[in-house]
Amino acid sequence: MSATALGTARLLAGVTRGGRADLVTHRHRHGPQRYRSLDELAADAARVLLLGRGGAAFPVATKLAAVPAGRATQVLVNGSESEPASRKDRTLMTLTPHLVLDGALAVARALGTRHVTVAVHDAGSHASLRAALEERSRQEPLPERVDVCRTAGRFVSGEVRALLRGLDGGPPVPPSRRTLPTESGLHGAPTFASNAETFAQLALLVAQGTTEFGAVGSPEEPGTTLLTLLGDVRTRGVVEVPTDLPLDALLPGEGGPVLVGGYHGRWVRDVHDLRGLGVDRPGLRAAGLPLNAGVVARLPREVCALAEVTAVTRWLAAQSAGQCGPCLYGTAALAHDVGELLHGRAAPAVEARLLGLVGRGACAHPDGTAAFVSTALDALGEDLALHRRHGGCGRPYAGVLPLGPLGQVGQVGPGGAR
Ligand code: SF4
Repeated sequence: MSATALGTARLLAGVTRGGRADLVTHRHRHGPQRYRSLDELAADAARVLLLGRGGAAFPVATKLAAVPAGRATQVLVNGSESEPASRKDRTLMTLTPHLVLDGALAVARALGTRHVTVAVHDAGSHASLRAALEERSRQEPLPERVDVCRTAGRFVSGEVRALLRGLDGGPPVPPSRRTLPTESGLHGAPTFASNAETFAQLALLVAQGTTEFGAVGSPEEPGTTLLTLLGDVRTRGVVEVPTDLPLDALLPGEGGPVLVGGYHGRWVRDVHDLRGLGVDRPGLRAAGLPLNAGVVARLPREVCALAEVTAVTRWLAAQSAGQCGPCLYGTAALAHDVGELLHGRAAPAVEARLLGLVGRGACAHPDGTAAFVSTALDALGEDLALHRRHGGCGRPYAGVLPLGPLGQVGQVGPGGAR
């Protein structure tokens, strides 16, 4: 998947043309590793309104303030990018691993700990990070211990509590008890855990200072952000954009329905529903469109949008960890109903199924799945009518929205809408 910058490249500075940045190249671009005290780091993060770049968009300064400093504290980089549509974190860890490591080490030093863990699903990120650590051991030996771990590839296994459970030897699914990682995380120790891009943003913040960091982007979320763009978009792949870029600038011309925020995200009918919105998380959240991990997809007009939604809904149902009844049975029943609509048949219980998922699990999977489907059904009103009248729309399923290893479960096949 390609990586490019629209506007000022920061995270991806130099790498969009030059490939993976080794330590010498990285230092040339970003300068020497710098450190700030915990108070300084939290104050800087607060000044630039830095938000986590995983799903929850939690304020980084608040999280830093919540972790007790000390030698027992753990720092966890969550690079477990488990949504098949998202490629931004693995792109970052593969092409510019030292930026992620600089951020993790800056946090560890601020917290007074030497324990850093980087958790990744994919082989490319793992190899790149391991190579980066070897370079450091030769050129800049560290007092910190940095472990790079491969983790389970299931969708819900990337959720931080599932990740912590898996790293501690348990099943990599969210626990039923909601405990904050800042209180009890890795090995039961207080843990500062955040997404890989968040650590890279912290490294930039430490290297640049607040003035330069805040010189681009939206006042509500200064700086740049990484997105993964799919389908009928201006530039497919991973892009770095300033956060004040209008969202519709990524989606030129007319086109089909747009998904914002990936497989736990929300659909809108078309680009007109996005007018006036930038890509900053606070603005999108206020508009009811959480950006989550930064996936934006527009379906081409010539594909069957309902077939794409059905495939992902089946995939999401297959991702349930099977430990909460409403999630296990509710997502499967919902996927069945969406399949009925695809084939032009009635699904009278679909509204009740959606309601039955809201707030009913140990993690966000049922709510995210319900949001994905309910907004799709709203956005695809005309397509639904066509399927109801004719048993299909005559357009093919094209697999624009990628599925994971369990993808075959969700295949509806070309012409499945007929
Ligand atoms: S809500 Fe679903 S995915 Fe989440 S823990 Fe329960 S069964 Fe697993």
